Amino acid sequence: MRIAFIGLGNMGGGMAANQAKAGREVMAFDLSPMATAKAVTNGCAGVDSIAEAIVGADAIVTMLPAGPHVRQVYAEQILPHAPKSAILVDSSTIDVESARAVAAQAKAAGFRFADAPVSGGTAAADAGTLAFMVGCDEADFAAVEDVIAPMSRVTFRAGDHGAGQAAKICNNMVLGISMIGVCEALALAEKLGLDPVKFHEISSQSSGQCWSLTTYCPWPGPVPTAPSNRNYEGGFSTAMMLKDLKLAQDAAAKAGASTPLGASAEGLYALFNGLGGSGKDFSAILEMLRGKAP
Ligand code: NAD
Repeated sequence: MRIAFIGLGNMGGGMAANQAKAGREVMAFDLSPMATAKAVTNGCAGVDSIAEAIVGADAIVTMLPAGPHVRQVYAEQILPHAPKSAILVDSSTIDVESARAVAAQAKAAGFRFADAPVSGGTAAADAGTLAFMVGCDEADFAAVEDVIAPMSRVTFRAGDHGAGQAAKICNNMVLGISMIGVCEALALAEKLGLDPVKFHEISSQSSGQCWSLTTYCPWPGPVPTAPSNRNYEGGFSTAMMLKDLKLAQDAAAKAGASTPLGASAEGLYALFNGLGGSGKDFSAILEMLRGKAP
């Protein structure tokens, strides 16, 4: 299978590498030449443009920052020039409306398309163990699963176009809220004279257990793969988390849903982002809650 992979950042880099590791021919492109060069060291063929990447592709996977990037790349580069037989899979986290708009344009142009955002962070992207949440026509799901298999631990068809993004936005609202909860608890443990590492050990086996604590601990030490051990570099940036919390709030406002903790989480991440935390992993909000500068 020949795959065009567009967007080789913190997530896309590892995902493209796993496609290559599975023996697929991966034509990799990122606006950053450094990101493309890294993909080459991981077994991909680096190319200089999207136009070059999509020639003869069986599948095109995009892993871009946000809705406007996806809309632009699809409208200007993929839909006018890709082979009609290529299946199109967008794994970026974007707003439901953009996902549905791109799906409608793709369908009108004769393509199969899926929104297929992911969960699991960069460690899972590198390990090929992401959870995929797919919105697509039922008839296309098997083909989508085949494309994403080397990158995935589990794949769900959430529903029709846009449903994958709806699942992802709701999931990340939980994540933003739970990360702040874990950070508040760690900061309180410290103030109470309880070793935060001991608290991690205890709560990981108690009812406070959650992914933010056990798999992605914001306190350095207990979870070696967590960004807290590398000065909160890489991982899932605060700016990206803020984007997702805004998506959740926009969606909640449109749907008339009440999401007060989601709104608080958005406010706290906006504050941390403004204080200089935007490029740090989102677990670095611990520093703000400990009263330290990012
Ligand atoms: P990133 O900023 O590290 O990577 C995005 C990449 O897209 C960059 O390398 C950038 O140069 C490239 N890019 C932008 N516009 C482009 C274009 N027109 N053509 C080619 N390349 C282009 O972001 P990331 O952390 O890899 O996240 C990517 C997406 O995945 C986001 O939507 C994010 O919300 C989502 N996501 C991230 C994580 C995480 O833990 N980082 C987890 C789940 C989902």
